[in-house]
Amino acid sequence: MCAKNYNAFETAQAQFDRVAEILDLDQATRDLLRNPLREYHFSIPVTMDDGSKKIFKGFRCLHNDSRGPGKGGIRFHPQETIDTVRALSMWMTWKCAVVDIPLGGGKGGVICDPHNLSPREQERLCRGWVRQVAQNVGPLQDVPAPDVMTNAQHMLWMLDEYEAIHRAKYPGFITGKPVGMGGSLGRTEATGYGVIFTVREALKEMGIRPEDTVASVQGFGNVSQYAIQLYTQLGGKVILVSSWDQNDQQAYAFKKNSGVDLKELQEITDSFGGINKDKAKELGYEVLPGDVWIEQEVDILIPAALENEVNAETVKRIHPRVKIIAEGANGPTTLEADKVIRERGIFLIPDFLANAGGVTCSYFEQVQCNMNYFWEKDEVLGKLDTKMTSAFIAVSDLARKKKLYMRDAAYVIAIDRVAQACKGRGWI
Ligand code: GLU
Repeated sequence: MCAKNYNAFETAQAQFDRVAEILDLDQATRDLLRNPLREYHFSIPVTMDDGSKKIFKGFRCLHNDSRGPGKGGIRFHPQETIDTVRALSMWMTWKCAVVDIPLGGGKGGVICDPHNLSPREQERLCRGWVRQVAQNVGPLQDVPAPDVMTNAQHMLWMLDEYEAIHRAKYPGFITGKPVGMGGSLGRTEATGYGVIFTVREALKEMGIRPEDTVASVQGFGNVSQYAIQLYTQLGGKVILVSSWDQNDQQAYAFKKNSGVDLKELQEITDSFGGINKDKAKELGYEVLPGDVWIEQEVDILIPAALENEVNAETVKRIHPRVKIIAEGANGPTTLEADKVIRERGIFLIPDFLANAGGVTCSYFEQVQCNMNYFWEKDEVLGKLDTKMTSAFIAVSDLARKKKLYMRDAAYVIAIDRVAQACKGRGWI
């Protein structure tokens, strides 16, 4: 899923190499950590509703499991590639380490467009994915979750197939399950809320009140919608969101200077985050090309769509007013763009810290499944806030003390924890 020939895995490796230098890691540690430990490539035969057969390509990468079982989502996307899955599995390792949860990094994917699959076809695809890797994933090995274009229903089908194969109940096999079926309250909100917990802390450090800020958000999926909800509750104003239009195969931006209304937009949005542009016009939104989200005169930019959207071309359009970029998406910024952001001194909250709320809540889901006792929503979100806030403070303290860029500081903490675990186990 790489826009304009950017390769997410090359970005992930280059980010790692930069910090390997700062940490002065030995060669064996670098060789171990810059690639996944294991990866699986497989074909998934699916019987389509019209009786024809179609073969889908699926992947699972386990980047590192020195601190605990692999953890990470499964994406359904027509432009999925093995290199993207590799990069995302690596970022999961750093994500779990930076928030200090006892899990490693994994990621999966299927090359497919769920817009064009019926619910029954999606179910067969989910079950087929599990059949191919049923021996290599599991609560003690590698634990999947939702990601781009996968949801709680997909997770439940996958769980059901896994339990049928292994002939026992394994609620900890997968997270992001529906509430009441082993899912945790707050999981749906967790990633978006987590982004805003870190934004709130960043604003606190800068001495700025959320009520005095304005934001522009790229994407209108799960992460974006809940980020907008919490940011608005804190008093902030979102003046623009962008969203992918499946019919036109392009993104549009929806702007209202008085502030977008989350509820009214949700009512005209499909389950993949696609906003109906005709209805938005009727509601008084200005409909603009999708890429203008980055050039808005705002204090905060939240890229919450796909990778490589902040790149050498688009980064030049960031308005001088922008103080904070909070990366809701995984890998939204290319190496060239990152350099520009660093040099401009914009306060960056890197993806694997900003969006770690999802996996943190997945960890809480596993804990609750193991106890077979489920917490109230406030308890889940309170614990999430504590975890995200302390991870943010640790990173920003280190950044200040060692005069490091925020992304580098987060990497220093995460890579050091993983390297220590590998060393302790005698791997390097
Ligand atoms: N897919 C989410 C992420 O990229 C969540 C992963 C999980 O819950 O395991 O962080």
